[in-house]
Amino acid sequence: MAYLEPAPIKDKENPFDSMMSRFDIAAKLLGISDEIYNILKTPARQVIVGIPVTMDNGKIQVFEGYRVIHSNILGPAKGGIRFAPDVHIDEVRALAAWMTWKCAVVDIPYGGAKGGITCNPREMSEGELERLVRGYTSAMLSVIGPDKDIPAPDMGSGPREMAWMMDEFSKAHGMTIPAVVTGKPLVLGGSLGRVEATGRGVMVCALAGMERLHINPYKATCAVQGFGNVGSYAAKLLNERGVSILAISDMSGGYYNDKGIDIDKAMAYSQANKGSLEGFDGAEKITNEDLLTMKADVLVPAAKEDVIDENIARKLQAKLIVEGANGPTSHKADPIINEKGVLAVPDILANAGGVTVSYFEWVQNRLGYKWTAERISRRTDRIMKESFDRVYQASIDYNVPMRIAAYIVAIDKVAKTYQFRGGY
Ligand code: NAD
Repeated sequence: MAYLEPAPIKDKENPFDSMMSRFDIAAKLLGISDEIYNILKTPARQVIVGIPVTMDNGKIQVFEGYRVIHSNILGPAKGGIRFAPDVHIDEVRALAAWMTWKCAVVDIPYGGAKGGITCNPREMSEGELERLVRGYTSAMLSVIGPDKDIPAPDMGSGPREMAWMMDEFSKAHGMTIPAVVTGKPLVLGGSLGRVEATGRGVMVCALAGMERLHINPYKATCAVQGFGNVGSYAAKLLNERGVSILAISDMSGGYYNDKGIDIDKAMAYSQANKGSLEGFDGAEKITNEDLLTMKADVLVPAAKEDVIDENIARKLQAKLIVEGANGPTSHKADPIINEKGVLAVPDILANAGGVTVSYFEWVQNRLGYKWTAERISRRTDRIMKESFDRVYQASIDYNVPMRIAAYIVAIDKVAKTYQFRGGY
């Protein structure tokens, strides 16, 4: 087929290439036409802006800002803004496409987008950052909007930056428009449940996977790589449902306890220790490789990309992998994992709890109403469970692993929606 080449990417082995290789398999299995394939691959809109900012020393520095809307076929585009010195339009374009599939797989009415600003937020004062964020927002006034494109935080940004964006956008329109961004501070219309949302989605997928594999959660064991936002809440919520968390890890290494780690204690320890488990005494020290290949029913990679390579895949003992991180499994590891009969719940499904609660934040802002934490948890669980079941069913119907099935579900939805809407 005359498929378009994927956008040029700096690193050949990056997770986006891995993702696209799976996208291609799914597109071929679905038998979508070359025309639709090319539409789905080509970003709808790409904007680059220069943002002059007066620095604290009185000099003007110009920053570059990007926003790529990969698709707005399913609805307004959705995706975070990355603040990093090496952020590049190719990377932003790749991440935008990833958001399209993630939103489609959990069936929320959003397209995919991503933004970026080339800056080093750690070296900037609060005032400089605020001027930069307001400058970016002002330059993107015609791009973003609650019905067009809804940014959120990503690496290097958080609720504070979203508050400035919301304020700048609102001032430009002469009214308060909280639904223009998600990930805002709670007092500004942020949602309850956002902090633990991604870990919660991982927990729901892990329980659903265990059910399919006939593993009793009360007898199950689990290893969690990465003890940040996603990993710690996934561990805590699984543990509350009976699963024994035998090992956790972070940058400082792995921590193992055959009786199960006390997760509340580990979370409190890490919080008091600047986000590190270094010195945690409730366990014995192991390496990250030990953790990934140890004997445990469930493995939750929730740290970074490409940690499960061919070597780790060969040694893997888990029966179920639930991908909290984006792109933790290299595409070369896929066949080994599949051959072993391991059930791998892919990132675009397993970690979509975060964007789901972002969607709830937008819905609440538009309703002008606040939902309780209980309602948010219940609705997140329902969406995640239904999405898991949909993808699992597609994996049976097409006789493919869940990873390919997730792309099949997502591509099918976007392609069908496009066909109903029509083009020129
Ligand atoms: P975080 O910064 O809060 O935590 C990352 C954790 O991983 C930290 O404990 C860190 O020490 C650990 N880590 C880093 N490198 C490691 C290594 N080599 N070995 C072991 N541990 C290592 O980040 P997060 O928000 O929890 O995100 C984790 C992953 O989940 C990322 O891939 C992110 O893109 C993805 N993700 C996050 C969200 C979200 O809502 N936070 C949503 C979707 C996907």
